[in-house]
Amino acid sequence: MTANPPYRRILLKVSGEVLMGDAAFGIDMATLDHVAEDIAAVVSAGFELCLVVGGGNIFRGVQVAGRGMERASADYMGMLATVMNALAVQSALERQGVDTRVQSAIPMDAICEPYIRRRALRHLEKGRVVIFAAGLGAPYFTTDTPAALRAAEMGCDALFKGTSVDGVYTADPKTDPKAERYGQITYQEVLAKNLRVMDGSAITLARDNHIPIVVFSIRERGALLKVLQGEGVHTTIKDL
Ligand code: UDP
Repeated sequence: MTANPPYRRILLKVSGEVLMGDAAFGIDMATLDHVAEDIAAVVSAGFELCLVVGGGNIFRGVQVAGRGMERASADYMGMLATVMNALAVQSALERQGVDTRVQSAIPMDAICEPYIRRRALRHLEKGRVVIFAAGLGAPYFTTDTPAALRAAEMGCDALFKGTSVDGVYTADPKTDPKAERYGQITYQEVLAKNLRVMDGSAITLARDNHIPIVVFSIRERGALLKVLQGEGVHTTIKDL
């Protein structure tokens, strides 16, 4: 571990979209392995890491509800999609020799542990990666809010949001060439400017619990470790 890294224990939110790579649906195995390799590097550098995995590569409740399905049922299907992704990430991490546990907010005894805060903390202390599945176990949320909640419950020093862009920009950098990346920005500015980094409830929860949100590109190999070591391109959302 580098001397005095800014964060020691983090929660990494990996969206389902990241796992599908360049495909339009499902899990891209090469991308999954790249993400697992980057996480393994961070664990062997001595950082403690837990994950919240999304499900948008398989099922997103709000989209399907828009086409007629009852919203709550659609959201429960979305939560089940996050469990599928969590098992895929677990398996990829095990291929890298990383000890992992999946804990689901909806108990599924045959395939993973139920979410038990104290047990999850013990896993982290033992150097295991804990993957939180099924979000909050409640509909009308995405996995952003459980990411902020679990980060608070696990006493994480930061919430890392791995996306396909390397930080928070003044405008969409994919469409606006004048877009500029913020090095640092406050929670309030993100909310007031409606920058859509994460759901408002997640940003508020992080703000109220003084958890910095670090936005970086998980598509760039090795970026996670670099950012954790205080280098690497990213945006930090925190109070000044
Ligand atoms: N979901 C939910 N409650 C939660 C977390 C997730 O209802 O606490 C459902 C919701 O339908 C969501 C889907 O699970 O759209 C997949 O999660 P998300 O959209 O966050 O996936 P991501 O965008 O991160 O891939």
